[in-house]
Formats: sequence, C-alpha cells, structure tokens
Amino acid sequence: MNFSLMTIEEVLQLQEEKKVTPQQVWDFFLRKREEWEPRINSFITVINRMEGNGIPAGIKDNITVKGLRTTCGSRMLDNYIAPYSATAWERLSSAGFSLSGKTNLDEFAMGSSTENSYYGPTKNPWDLERSPGGSSGGSAAAVAAGMVKFALGSDTGGSVRQPSSFCGVVGFKPTYGRISRFGLVAFASSLDQIGIITNNVKDSAFVFSTIAGHDPRDSTSSRVPVPDYREIFTEVPGKFTFAFPDDEVLERAEPEVRKEFSLFINLAKKLGGRGKQVKMPLLNYAMEAYYIVANAEASSNLARYDGVRYGLREKAKDLLEMYIKTRTSGFGPEVKRRILTGGFVLSRGYYEGYYGKAVSFRRALASFMEEIFSSAEFLLIPTTPHTAFKLGEKHDPIEMYLEDFFTVFVNLAGLPAISIPWGLINGLPIGFQIVSRWYNEIGMFRLAYLMEKEISFKNKLIQKEV
Ligand code: GLN
Repeated sequence: MNFSLMTIEEVLQLQEEKKVTPQQVWDFFLRKREEWEPRINSFITVINRMEGNGIPAGIKDNITVKGLRTTCGSRMLDNYIAPYSATAWERLSSAGFSLSGKTNLDEFAMGSSTENSYYGPTKNPWDLERSPGGSSGGSAAAVAAGMVKFALGSDTGGSVRQPSSFCGVVGFKPTYGRISRFGLVAFASSLDQIGIITNNVKDSAFVFSTIAGHDPRDSTSSRVPVPDYREIFTEVPGKFTFAFPDDEVLERAEPEVRKEFSLFINLAKKLGGRGKQVKMPLLNYAMEAYYIVANAEASSNLARYDGVRYGLREKAKDLLEMYIKTRTSGFGPEVKRRILTGGFVLSRGYYEGYYGKAVSFRRALASFMEEIFSSAEFLLIPTTPHTAFKLGEKHDPIEMYLEDFFTVFVNLAGLPAISIPWGLINGLPIGFQIVSRWYNEIGMFRLAYLMEKEISFKNKLIQKEV
C-alpha cells in the first residue's frame, strides 16, 4: 500500500478497520527517508522512535519540541535543547502523530533557498542541482519526496508557499493569529505564522483544524472559532467570484509561468468562478515594506542571542568582548545583514523615513485588500516568478529578496493563502496561490480542493511503492 497517495483520513480509517498497523505506516515512510535523506539533506535531526498512529510529521527546526535540539539552522543554537514544546506540536502529538524529525531551514528562517543554513542546503528532490526554495525548504522537500506525510513550516514572507511551489506540494499559511506562535522561534513577530505542507488539500485542512485555535500562551492568538475539518468539505462552492492581477503585476513572472497561470484562471472560470482583473499598484512597494518591517523586528528579536541566555558562548576576557565574539561567530552573513539594516531603520533620524512609512504602507495595503475582497471572494495569483533555481545561482541578496514578490503582501496584510501545485514547466513543478479574506480558510480550502480535483498534477516522486 502506498500511504503517500492517501489522505491522512484514509490512513486513519485503515487503522481503525485494523487493515494496517501504525508500525506499517511508520515503516513505509522510514524506508522513504532512508532512500531520500542522504541525497537531499531535509533534516537537521532525525527521530527513529514511532509513536501513536505512526503517521510521521516533519517539524521545521525553528519550532520547539521538548527535549530536542532546536537549531534554527544557526550555529548560535547548535547546542540548544528546547525545554518546552510548541503548542502546534503539542496538539499534533496529542492527536497521535509521530515525529520523523526536525527539518532544515535558512538560518532563523531568513532566506528563500535553504542555502543560508549552517547545516548545508537542502536539495530539491525533483532536481538535485536545484534549491527546494526556502526558508522551509527542508519541510517542503521532505513532503515532496514522501519521507513524511506532512510538515510544519513557518511563513513570514512566503517561506511555506514558495518552497511548496518549487517542490510540487500544497503549502498553506493561515490568517495571522490562527495558529499559536508559542514555541515558534521569533523572526518577525507581526508577520510570522506557522504553515502546513502536504501532498493534498484535504491533509492541509486536517492538520489545520488539529493545530489551529486560541492559545492563552500566545497573546496574538485569535479567538475566532476554528472550523471542524469534517465540515470543510461537506459543501462545494457552486458559483464564486475571484480577482486576479493585471499584466503589470503578472509581468514579474516569467512568460512560461504567465502562460500556465492564464490556464489556471480559465479553470477557475470553468468551475463556476466569475473572475475580474484588478490593478494592484501597491504590490510594487510590498517587498520594500516587508524587508523594513521584517528586519526591524528581527533586529530586536535576535538581540536575545547574547551568549548569556541561549546557545553559543565564546570565551572572552570581558563581557563586551564575549557579546561581540559570540554574535560574530554565531550568526551567518544574511542574519547579520538583517540585524544591521533592521537596527538602521529603527534608529533615531531614520525611523520615520523608513519604519514609520513601512507601517503606514501596511495599513494602506490592508485597506486595499479589504476593497478587493469586498467584490471578490478570492484572489488568484502566482506563488513564484519561476520554477526552482539552481543552488548557488543567486549571489545578490536583492535578487533573492525579489523571489518573494508574490508572497510577502499576504503576510503584511495578515491574510490566509494556499499554494497548490499546478503542473510542470520543463520538468519542474510550479504552484499558484488562492488568497482569501481574513478567516475564510474554509472557503479557501473548498476552492483549492475543487481545483485540485480538476488539475491533473501528479507528484511523480511518490507514485512508487517501497
Ligand atoms: N524569503 C523571505 C525572507 O527571507 C521570507 C522568509 C520567511 O517567510 N520566513 O525573509
């Protein structure tokens, strides 16, 4: 039996009917891990002990699991053992899921390729010379290769959706506040959300309803009730309305991607959608605003790694030298760049010009999105400008930042979005996003499911039995 091709619900059903045991499920995925992991480096820590229902999860290594190392892909936390578990993992564990390991990521989730990891890059299982995307590249690659049934990532500016597009899997980021951030190591707190990576839409919704919901340990956690998974797919959307961006925005994507995207739009229309093209001029500034806000918050959040409280401590003759040595050797170049620019945009004299403006922009963007969603239920938009790029190909940081053009506005506005695989371009996967208004995850999942059924995408990596 190929458990990769089933939904979580189907696997649980088979267990209930005593047709398979948790051990059989666990062993199936373990064999996949043995086959793939040496080639693609998806994990920083692997776990060999089965628990509960044996359905294995990958957890990004910036989400804590009590008693295990949480490195954040950084030398700074190479020896850091988490004293408590993240709420998201606690809920998964109580629901019976097993942990397969902690997945690789760009250092502190800063990056779009997983190349910023202290533990070396993860490789894209579709083409080992290419990046799986980032920063949740380890999670996306592990799901795509069928090593785990699902994985958690974090999405601050696209880190769940972009690698999902590059790896041909489903990447979902909820409304800000839906999933507790307790136990998620902070990068940019007002943007960070835990997201879910799976091989199908139903599993995404299943995991979502297992982990979402209010948590008193996260003060930004929302009290809006979470839909029960079983209710999500009972109704199918009949007729619906959607918006999609005009050419000015779409030109940011490569011609091949634009061509495929127009077919995606056609499919939405065929399925009962009434689509209208909208101008989205504010998207031109989203990337700049994102890197100001994210770096400002990062510079503050990362001040805690001082050699005293967590992880690495370098030997030195006095306290000041210890701070300097620890932070110099503990952080990689991208993290340092962000701490420096983040400190700069918050400094006296520059604050109003940079941080202040970015914050007002964010408000303007939210009203703009509100306006879009007043006349359309969904926004359909590409996830990435192209398919997976080669490892080592992007040297210029700005070029790497441009990878996020289609994803960061979603985080700045706090919206939910899902990237679903559409097809292949020259043998490499590409995904497209469905964005919806705040808290309409149900509607978004239903449409994603409806479209998924019509899209003939097959992840060829998981077809084979082992
Ligand atoms: N690539 C973006 C960045 O480098 C997004 C990262 C993320 O979502 N964690 O900041």
